[in-house]
Amino acid sequence: MENSLEFAQQLDRADPLRSFRERFYIPERGGKPLIYFCGNSLGLQPKTARQALDQELEVWQQQGVEGWFEGEKPWLSIHQRCKKPLAQIVGAHPSEVCPMNNLTVNLHLLLTSFYQPTQNRSRILTIGGDFPSDQYALESHIRTRGLNPDETLLEVFPRPHEPTWRTDDILAAIEQHRDSLALVLMSGLHYYTGQVFDMAAIARKAREVGIPVGFDLAHAVGNIPLKLHDWEVDFAFWCSYKYLNSGPGGVSGLFIHEKHHAENRPRLAGWWGYDEARRFEMTKGFVPMPGADGWQLSTPSVLAMAVHEAALAITAEAGMDALRRKSELLTGFLEWTLQQSGLPLTIITPANPAERGCQLSILIERNGKTVFSDLTEKGIIGDWREPDCIRLAPTPLYNTFEEVWRVGQVISGSERFTS
Ligand SMILES: *Cc1c(COP(=O)(O)O)cnc(C)c1O
Repeated sequence: MENSLEFAQQLDRADPLRSFRERFYIPERGGKPLIYFCGNSLGLQPKTARQALDQELEVWQQQGVEGWFEGEKPWLSIHQRCKKPLAQIVGAHPSEVCPMNNLTVNLHLLLTSFYQPTQNRSRILTIGGDFPSDQYALESHIRTRGLNPDETLLEVFPRPHEPTWRTDDILAAIEQHRDSLALVLMSGLHYYTGQVFDMAAIARKAREVGIPVGFDLAHAVGNIPLKLHDWEVDFAFWCSYKYLNSGPGGVSGLFIHEKHHAENRPRLAGWWGYDEARRFEMTKGFVPMPGADGWQLSTPSVLAMAVHEAALAITAEAGMDALRRKSELLTGFLEWTLQQSGLPLTIITPANPAERGCQLSILIERNGKTVFSDLTEKGIIGDWREPDCIRLAPTPLYNTFEEVWRVGQVISGSERFTS
């Protein structure tokens, strides 16, 4: 590595994915493009999004209700068109995935199906300090079953003075509580530290002791390669507005492993999950679609789904393997430039590339908020977490090595660290 503009530009020239940046609108300020390292919060707008929206608005305008059934791309099968790229991105069979609802809604649906507490086995193992919405969902599910969250939730924390978890500690906790656990549910990639968990090992351990396991993939999907089917994860869910670039509040998705498809699990049902061939017979008695589709509830939001479809096509075309290769280099370069700066900062994201995605979480010892404002003023968009953390996510679809170098320059040159 070399800390120079020339070196960064050389890496950009050698980047096989460099043309993908052209597929996105890069936000600007005063006519100059911002350095957008915030794809972990809201991915950028694909240039094809507007066209996808216009197309469906046109169908609605011209055909009204016939849009559901008529034309090249009837709305009735819009979810079908998303399943193939989604399956490719999360490592699943198309029947195991389906876009629907929003993330927290899907989490509730999946808890209804997979959290089946019994007299002896009622506890849920999770990680302490997981994303708040997940914590609230777990807590409320436990209460709706008449149980006490304080006794029912089992949270695994990092060891004292360590910012991230050890897989062995999670596996040991599953082993220790094997007779009282009903479910393991946690993030696959932790939103705050950027740590990737060893989902394969956690799923293997849970399977060994007969406990279902589910992962929240909000920060993992489109960021790291996933093999949900091969890992035999029981279920998973994600949102599409972070690394999948499907727009603010875009459609979520869920995964249900094939081995559960024939089970007819308890679920919260709606007519959109009803056997498609007979849905419009409007008869009594719920008959689910096979696979993940059977968890659908409502008429999909066609406009949001159209943007999702357009965005998924880009990620699928780039391919998760190529994205991952670039991502490791890009994030490694950012890490290296920060280390070169010699400033009083600590990167809490694991140094091992296998244990992280593209995000680095940086603790600033002093004046963190001022350093962050300084970055923002200089056109660098990251995100700030109280009390002292800056998260920067160079995303391989649209960020460049030159941008990483420039961020390193601005941070190194910031007088806020010492003043
Ligand atoms: C972003 C995120 C969410 C957001 O949930 P919504 O229902 O889409 O608002 C949930 N969980 C995690 C881990 C996240 O990172």
